[in-house]
Amino acid sequence: MGKLALVTGGSGGIGAAICRSLAQQGHAVIVHGNQGADRVEALVQEINAGGGEARPLILDVTDTERCRAVLETLTEERPVQILVNNAGIHDDTVFPGMRPEQWRAVLDVSLNGFFNVTQPLSLPMIRSRWGRIISVTSVSAIVGNRGQVNYSAAKGALHSATRSLSLELASRGVTVNAVAPGIIETPMSEDHFPPEAVAQLVPMKRAGRPEEVAEVVAFLASDASSYVTGQVISVNGGMI
Ligand code: NAD
Repeated sequence: MGKLALVTGGSGGIGAAICRSLAQQGHAVIVHGNQGADRVEALVQEINAGGGEARPLILDVTDTERCRAVLETLTEERPVQILVNNAGIHDDTVFPGMRPEQWRAVLDVSLNGFFNVTQPLSLPMIRSRWGRIISVTSVSAIVGNRGQVNYSAAKGALHSATRSLSLELASRGVTVNAVAPGIIETPMSEDHFPPEAVAQLVPMKRAGRPEEVAEVVAFLASDASSYVTGQVISVNGGMI
């Protein structure tokens, strides 16, 4: 049966692909964005026009109080049983020149955003005895990346949080996993990785497509992955 799914950053490149695949699996999808309200609305319309079920949610994931208030109200009708923590930003620079605001902003969206969204949704999910919590992280958390000390710290912390939360929820029918993409064709990566760099860094000699990340997320969101928890699954064309 279709579940209620929330995809944070659903207006972005990878998030939109995840929303489409969850809708195709028959789930009702809450497409979340922060500043990209137009993109959120366009995707909601596209999914609904294609026979799926979607609705928008605009929320700053760094706003703890507002997240709690909005998400508690939202789950009064029905628990969110599939949560994809996908919202993330990067603000790259070599560490000696990194401003405190750059450090804080990146951790605030990825790591504090994980807390602000996941925590209010966790009890209703546990009570329903079926849940999936999936965080989109990065290869940068595993191998590191010059200029991304803030970003890899935030994503690496999500790997540790995933592991610990999976232990807390393992006996409750709720799985907790992370998907770590490599270089994916989105506006976020195009500025950073010209084709020559991709050919050098990726054994498959190409960037991944957002749909290739979404397929793995959709598997982890399905009944088929019921015995997979506490894992980080890489989707990176063989980078590690
Ligand atoms: P994107 O920039 O297209 O999307 C980012 C999303 O995050 C947007 O929907 C934006 O609204 C949302 N967001 C940003 N700040 C927010 C805030 N304060 N509150 C709420 N939402 C906020 O990026 P993308 O390439 O689709 O990346 C999606 C995820 O995948 C990110 O977590 C990113 O770190 C990760 N990732 C991307 C790549 C890549 O190559 N594109 C590689 C590895 C990991």
